[in-house]
Amino acid sequence: MPDILPAEMAVRRWVEDTARDVFRTFGYGEIRTPFLEETDVFTRSIGEETDIVQKEMYSLTDRGGTNISLRPEGTASIVRAYIEHGLHHKEGLVKLFYAGPMFRGERPQKGRLRQFYQIGAEIIGASGPYIDAEIIFNLDVLLKQLKVDGFTILLNSLGCARDRAAFKKALSDYLAGKMPALCDNCKRRAGTNILRVLDCKREGCRATLGEAPDILDYLCGACSGDYAALKSILSEMGVPFRQRKDLVRGLDYYTGTVFEVVHPSLGAQDAIAAGGRYDELVKQMGGPDVGATGYGIGIERLLLAIDVKDIPPGLAGALVIPVGDEFRPDAFRITSGLRIKGVPCEMDHSGRSFKGQMRKAHRDRRKFVIMVGEEEIKSEKLLLKDMETGEQKALSFEDVAQRLKGVLKSDV
Ligand SMILES: [Zn+2]
Ligand SMILES: [Zn+2]
Repeated sequence: MPDILPAEMAVRRWVEDTARDVFRTFGYGEIRTPFLEETDVFTRSIGEETDIVQKEMYSLTDRGGTNISLRPEGTASIVRAYIEHGLHHKEGLVKLFYAGPMFRGERPQKGRLRQFYQIGAEIIGASGPYIDAEIIFNLDVLLKQLKVDGFTILLNSLGCARDRAAFKKALSDYLAGKMPALCDNCKRRAGTNILRVLDCKREGCRATLGEAPDILDYLCGACSGDYAALKSILSEMGVPFRQRKDLVRGLDYYTGTVFEVVHPSLGAQDAIAAGGRYDELVKQMGGPDVGATGYGIGIERLLLAIDVKDIPPGLAGALVIPVGDEFRPDAFRITSGLRIKGVPCEMDHSGRSFKGQMRKAHRDRRKFVIMVGEEEIKSEKLLLKDMETGEQKALSFEDVAQRLKGVLKSDV
């Protein structure tokens, strides 16, 4: 579980701010749910037999004897909240986004931590190809705004429950004589969660699955119609995608359209973002029978796919420099006054000489320094120097505050 220091926080803050702007454009409201939920919320939605529930959740019994878990993903809590607050009574269609930490006890590795951050979106209350297209388009726009280059959207359909039952039977028949060739994990999954055998990355399992049936051949008329409509809407909107028949996702609640976003910087295993439709989950958790679609972006993985150089830097605040030690009290008073006015600024507290402070201002890429000396105090003016142009101007305190307010953003 990571400590995130200010330099990286600045990048993460930019990611979140950019996401908030995009979600606002698309009409999503922000939701925050608790980090801890009754364990039931996750086992009932993500699925008893999934890796997350079997091996990865941080669970404990609280003082009242209730089993609770740190949330391993965002959707289950949001559906719980949607039902609990009767959001379906208030509005037909609810569009929500969230940003925050999730927890899974996995083996930590590059881009995978035990406390990781997600930004995600959910549309609850209806489903259909246009809603699938809207949420995929939203993800596509967001990733572009976040300066992710060269990502690929992978698409598949898992059909409705009936289609999936027929496909699972066909897959089970196909694998019946081939069990010895599968890895131990897949042997177990073949009995519990057979779809997951499809995304095993082991060579032997991949080879064994070479001739496996294709889920798209098992879709009913309605599901294949929806899937075809989605693909044509995306093509019309110029959103490129690749069909991927072994894309099944690791969570039980998906139905119909599923998608993943992969990026070459992450290798074969990891997706930056993933999502899909979950038309049966709201009803299954005790809510109304309404469709839903959503996705989550893994921030640590996203950061591997972003070039930090592409992020527009904010400007460092101004440095207030006393020209001699005796002017420190004045510099301190002026620094404090500027801060009250909302001007980001700083003053040296480590006893550097005037020259040393100027050098430090250069190193820190400060656009402005404000010099305070005898002349400035006498004339009640400050000497404002633009470090890029070298231009110097004597201005009143009010004029300096006016000029720098809003020009300086000190966060990156
Ligand atoms: Zn179907
Ligand atoms: Zn396997």
